[in-house]
Amino acid sequence: MTEAPESSVVARLVAVREAVARSAVDAERDPATVTLVAVSKTFDAPDIVPVLEASQRVFGENRVQESKDKWPGLRETYPDVELHLIGPLQSNKVREALQIFDVIETVDRESLAAELAKEMPKTDRRPALYVQVNTGEEEQKAGIAPAEADAFIRRCREVHGLAITGLMCIPPADEPPSPHFALLSKIAARNGIAVLSMGMSADFEEAIQLGATHVRVGSAIFGVRG
Ligand SMILES: *Cc1c(COP(=O)(O)O)cnc(C)c1O
Repeated sequence: MTEAPESSVVARLVAVREAVARSAVDAERDPATVTLVAVSKTFDAPDIVPVLEASQRVFGENRVQESKDKWPGLRETYPDVELHLIGPLQSNKVREALQIFDVIETVDRESLAAELAKEMPKTDRRPALYVQVNTGEEEQKAGIAPAEADAFIRRCREVHGLAITGLMCIPPADEPPSPHFALLSKIAARNGIAVLSMGMSADFEEAIQLGATHVRVGSAIFGVRG
């Protein structure tokens, strides 16, 4: 007997939720302190609906245009969705991003901070802002270098008036992730930042051990991306 595709996505969601809760308990943390961000990038609305029906409400997307195509329709039925931008944000997309996202996890450069500061007063939208740190100092990856993070966070706050409430990182694919999670946690602590977005399908358990408050899980829920 073959399972309907939506029941398998729900089965995977339930398994991920259980693994998240188990990791929190193992780390002597309250499971309620870890938020599962379901990364729905590349999946269309019909694939996302079963996950919404299973009461998942926090989602991550990496593109502004794709999110604009998908989420306004879904939000008519599920208005309490919380949408996180987890991909790079171009300055010329800031205005659109402010309209659709509740959290922007990828503040990574001065020009973007300046554009956010310029556009936010023109709207009533105040998404939470996280700074992305390039913990592996990878050339091809977005994010502020670890050595520049303190100064950048201070400038976001003091020069641009932005409330930075979180940090996000994507460790290098070919290295053990834990040292990167530990580094992000250290930078957050010394900057008075409580939110840590770290850990994906392959490593969210380690991230929770090291204090992740948000884990961004895509393929372990939705399956392999096409
Ligand atoms: C795609 C993506 C994820 C999810 O990755 P999976 O390995 O599918 O869980 C998490 N974070 C970011 C920034 C991503 O782009």
